[in-house]
Amino acid sequence: MFPLIEKAPAAAGQTAIDPEALEKKRLAQIVLLFGGVAVFILLTISAVNYVRHSGAFIWMTVPAAAVLLALVFFTQRTGNISLAINAFGVMMVALSLILLVSGGINGYGLLWIYIFPPFIFYAQGFRRGLFYMALLIACVLAVFYGQYWPIDHFRYSPDYKKRFLLSLSGVVMISAISEYSRQKTHRWLATLAAKLEALSYQDELTGLANRRCGLSQLSTLREISLRNETPFSLIVVDIDHFKQINDHYGHEAGDAMLRHCADTMRQGIRKQDLLVRWGGEEFLCLLPNTDLDGAFVVAEKMRNNLEKAQLVAGSRVLRATGSFGVARVGKEESLDATLARADEALYRSKEEGRNRVSVADNFQPPKGKAA
Ligand code: GH3
Ligand code: MG
Ligand code: MG
Repeated sequence: MFPLIEKAPAAAGQTAIDPEALEKKRLAQIVLLFGGVAVFILLTISAVNYVRHSGAFIWMTVPAAAVLLALVFFTQRTGNISLAINAFGVMMVALSLILLVSGGINGYGLLWIYIFPPFIFYAQGFRRGLFYMALLIACVLAVFYGQYWPIDHFRYSPDYKKRFLLSLSGVVMISAISEYSRQKTHRWLATLAAKLEALSYQDELTGLANRRCGLSQLSTLREISLRNETPFSLIVVDIDHFKQINDHYGHEAGDAMLRHCADTMRQGIRKQDLLVRWGGEEFLCLLPNTDLDGAFVVAEKMRNNLEKAQLVAGSRVLRATGSFGVARVGKEESLDATLARADEALYRSKEEGRNRVSVADNFQPPKGKAA
């Protein structure tokens, strides 16, 4: 059924914001977008090389395009994003190594390596990006300055090597910094979104469901109960003489008392029930799968708990009582009408001296538990 609101961001039917799901969606988009663009670039290079240089490097670019295409399709079908992302990283380092060793066409192949750092950071995140970059720089150093490089490779001039290393380090640094700040902003926004979402269904003072959430749950539970033909009842509660607490002890003590009342009443209900701060010092309790007899018993238990509980504020011990109105939710009337009947019962409790439970309808409380 419906768990208590503090554990259920989606309790009122809203979609919960999940930063991990958002991140997964972002990575899936990267695989699709960058994979597609990379395949296009690789095939264009293959075509140009085929026409101009009678097929130079086609042995590398065409298979790379095929592997990328396969990865994109694989990710779309299976949703296994991390495999594709890691394969992209390994492929980029491998392509860089081939370009470094061969020099590409007349040594210009190295220019393509500049594309990789921003992409690798964006796709891998800051930490794993650093790992791949360390691997890339290690490859560059090994090819440029390794003494026992086994393959006969392109002979770069010492100046070219120095400038390439420096400029590549600059690109790596800028990419790392921008990814770091992107991640930080992303985390901050995700936390903020989660907080705002919580505020939209939760009452800040008591941590209970707020009125908006309560109304939404009320109509959902009513529909479920009508469809399944299961009983559904509700209780409205108003704290007695609450104004006096504010007047005598101050607004802060009043707030503390509201939190105390919320906690005390919450302890008397089941997990599938929902206690709502309906407004001011009024509460609404939704009891799915509960008939009027059961709701009366719950209301009486809440009333009793509230009466007995003490709030220790400094050297003072404060107490509060509540007046309760119970009603059954049925198909024969609108929700507004049901709430109005529960309110009428509540006002009867007030009129009859407060700190009591009254039931709407022609309801007879179980013997020995007179209202
Ligand atoms: P009754 O037994 O007839 O219900 O009397 P009451 O004093 O509880 O009712 P009344 O409607 O006269 O006063 C309600 C008070 O609740 C007035 C309002 O200042 C106070 N109140 C409402 N919301 C809050 C809140 O969030 N914090 C505090 N401290 N007080 C609140
Ligand atoms: Mg009131
Ligand atoms: Mg009151």
